[in-house]
Amino acid sequence: MRKPLIAANWKMYKTPAEARDFFAKLLPIVQKHQRDEIVVCAAGPLLPECRQATAGSNICLGGQNLYWKDEGAFTGEVSGPMLKAVGCTHVIVGHSERRQYFGETDETVNLKLKAALKAGLIPIVCVGEVLEEREAGVTDDVLRRQCSIAFRELSSDDAKRIVIAYEPVWAIGTGRTATPVVANAAHITIREEARSILGAEVANGLRILYGGSVKPDNIKELMAQSEIDGALVGGASLDTLAFEKIIQY
Ligand code: PEP
Repeated sequence: MRKPLIAANWKMYKTPAEARDFFAKLLPIVQKHQRDEIVVCAAGPLLPECRQATAGSNICLGGQNLYWKDEGAFTGEVSGPMLKAVGCTHVIVGHSERRQYFGETDETVNLKLKAALKAGLIPIVCVGEVLEEREAGVTDDVLRRQCSIAFRELSSDDAKRIVIAYEPVWAIGTGRTATPVVANAAHITIREEARSILGAEVANGLRILYGGSVKPDNIKELMAQSEIDGALVGGASLDTLAFEKIIQY
């Protein structure tokens, strides 16, 4: 069985004090929650505060990006071992905002994915088509390409630790959500691609999250789909009450 995973992507929001406040409200409510794995991916400078605030709880921490070298003269970058050292268990890789604004490619996503695994982190690898690609009817081709390059040179043991987030770019931060049926169809394509490259065992266990304007009022319907194993939540994860409702779908 695939344990559902609800992940928050705080993007470049919150101060350490706001993060502390968020967890002070959230923790008492979700402390007994066991059905889903809960991960909060925060900006680097917030992580020590987040670690302190979530110590001993059922909330895991994640980074939002990493570089593929362990250390070196790479000003502004953060490595997998650094994220691990400040208490991260997860890291988002290849978010569409990274691809769109910071030049990330399928190839760098593959390097980052391997670096995350090497550092002992669970990578949450984002894939998804832009609006023009959906309208041109090439969504499946785009997803297959993104996945096949991301999965290059992975051992099946490593591949078992990966999480994929299907995030149609046209649905991120726009208030437009893919319908549950559309999202489910994309998840089927991703799982098929994973099956052909990584084998049936890995593909059957692969958690595929949906991301793109997930809100308290659409999470239940999305999670009812057979192939949707969780959610990557941006905007709505910044508000304790909204995130709490999403976790309790
Ligand atoms: C995201 O940042 O990954 C995301 C899906 O954002 P939003 O929920 O705001 O669309």
